[in-house]
Amino acid sequence: MSLSSRLDNSYAQELAGLYVPWQGQEWPAPSLALLNEPLARALGLDPGALRSPEGVGLLSGHALPDTARPLAQAYAGHQFGGFSPQLGDGRAILVGEVIDPDGARWDIHLKGSGRTPFARGGDGRAVLGPVLREYLVSEAMAALGVPTTRALAACTTGDRVLRQFGLEPGAVLARVAASHLRVGTFQFFAARGEQDKLRLLLDYAIARHDPDLSEAQDAALQFLARVGRRQAELVAQWMGLGFIHGVMNTDNTTISGETIDYGPCAFMDSYDPATVFSSIDQMGRYAYGNQPAIVLWNLARLAEALLPLIDTSEERAIGQASEVISETQTIYRRAWAEVFSRKLGLEAADADLIEGMHALWERQGVDFTRFFQILPEALHGNDAPLRALFDAPSGLDDWLARYRKAVSDPAAAEARMRAVNPVYIPRNHLVEEALHAASFKDDMGPFNALLERVQKPFAHVDGMERFAQPAPADTPQVVTYCGT
Ligand code: AMP
Ligand code: MG
Repeated sequence: MSLSSRLDNSYAQELAGLYVPWQGQEWPAPSLALLNEPLARALGLDPGALRSPEGVGLLSGHALPDTARPLAQAYAGHQFGGFSPQLGDGRAILVGEVIDPDGARWDIHLKGSGRTPFARGGDGRAVLGPVLREYLVSEAMAALGVPTTRALAACTTGDRVLRQFGLEPGAVLARVAASHLRVGTFQFFAARGEQDKLRLLLDYAIARHDPDLSEAQDAALQFLARVGRRQAELVAQWMGLGFIHGVMNTDNTTISGETIDYGPCAFMDSYDPATVFSSIDQMGRYAYGNQPAIVLWNLARLAEALLPLIDTSEERAIGQASEVISETQTIYRRAWAEVFSRKLGLEAADADLIEGMHALWERQGVDFTRFFQILPEALHGNDAPLRALFDAPSGLDDWLARYRKAVSDPAAAEARMRAVNPVYIPRNHLVEEALHAASFKDDMGPFNALLERVQKPFAHVDGMERFAQPAPADTPQVVTYCGT
C-alpha cells in the first residue's frame, strides 16, 4: 500500500479553527539521515517505501502526497508562567495520521519544516544537532518505558542554517505521537471564549484518548482527572530517571501523557533538586525538584480552560476541579513512591525509606544513575563502592541498615532493580560529543554508538563502561538551548 493512501486526517476534518492548512518547505537536497525501522514496521509502514524519494519527500516535508492535508496547529500557552493567547506550530506541520495494525491512531508530525503563519520572529528551521538530540533522547525514554513521542526519521535538507555557533546543517525531525493535543490547545479556545469549539475539542480529545468517557455526564471533569493521572505518573517516571524536561510550558504538556518537545532537556548527573540545564531558565522554574509542582500548576491551567464545560455554575466547577487537582497530587505522591520503591527493589512502597535516601544525597555529589547500579552490592554486604560515590557520607550506615531490613530476599530484589535501573542513559557529555561530531565533523559514528546503548538501557555490555560513567570531573556543566 502506498504511503499516501495510509494518511488519515481527523484533525483537519474535525477541528476547524484550530489550524491553518500548510505545506512543508522545499529543500535543495533532502536526504534521510536516520530511519527508525522498527517503529516504521510497528506503524505498518514499509521501511523501503520510506527510503524511496517519495518517502524522503514525506519525511522531510519537501514533497507531501497530494492526498495529504498538512497543517500547522494553533495553540496558546503559558510560557515560564506568562500567557500567550496565540502560539502554534511556528516551524512544524502535522502531515496526517496513520492507523497502525492494532487500530491505534498516530500523528505524523514534522519539526523544522519551514516557517508557518505562527512563526512570529522565528526562521521556521531546525538544525541537525537538536534534531538528533530529540531523536536520541526520545528513543532512550521509549526504551526506559516512559510514555513519549517517538522519532520516526531525521532528514537533512542540504542547506545550512545560521545558529548561535555558526552555520549548521538544516534538518527535519519526523515524529510520531498519540496526538499533539496539549493543555495549550484547550487554552486557545478558552482564551477566546469560544465554548462551542472548546466542546468540539473536548469531544475530539475524548474520542482519541479516553473513548470510554464519551457518554459520561461529567466527561469534562473525568477527562481532567485522566489527564492529571497520566501527567502525574509521567513526571514520577521522569523523577525516577533524573530527567529534567527543561521547558514544561503548558504548550509542552500533552493530553496523552506523553513526553513531548525535547528541547533543553537533560538527565541529571549528580543529585541536586535545583539542577537546571536550560540557558533561558534563569529562575530555575523548571528545575528537577520543581517538576511535580509545575505539572500540577499546568493541570490547574487545563482546569481553568475546562471550567465552562464542567458546570454551568463557575463556583461549583471550581470546587470540583480543585478536588481533582488535589487528588492528582495524591496520585503523584503515590506514583513517586512506587517508582522509587521499584528502584530499590522493594515489594511494598516505603515513603520514609525513600525520603531518607533523598536526604542522604543532599550536597553529596552522588551520581544519580550510578547509585542504583551500585546499590545491589551494598545490599549483599559490600558497601565500599557505594560509599565511594559520596563526598562525605553521613547517615549512610543507618539508612543501609533500614534498607537491608526492608528487603527479605536480596537476590530477588537485585533482579527487580536491574530491570528498572538503567546502566546507560544519554549522559550530557556523551550527547554533546555525539552531536558535535554529527554537526561539525560529518561523523555519525559517536551518535550511532550512543543510540545503540540507550536503546538497550538495562543490559550491561562488557567494554562499554565509558557509556555508564559520569563525565570526567573537569567537564564543564552542559548548557542546553530551547527551540534551536
Ligand atoms: P518550543 O519551546 O520548542 O516548544 O517552542 C515554542 C514555540 O516557538 C512553538 O510555537 C514553536 O513552534 C516556536 N518556535 C521555536 N523555534 C522556532 C523557529 N526556529 N521558527 C519558528 N518558530 C519556532
Ligand atoms: Mg513546544
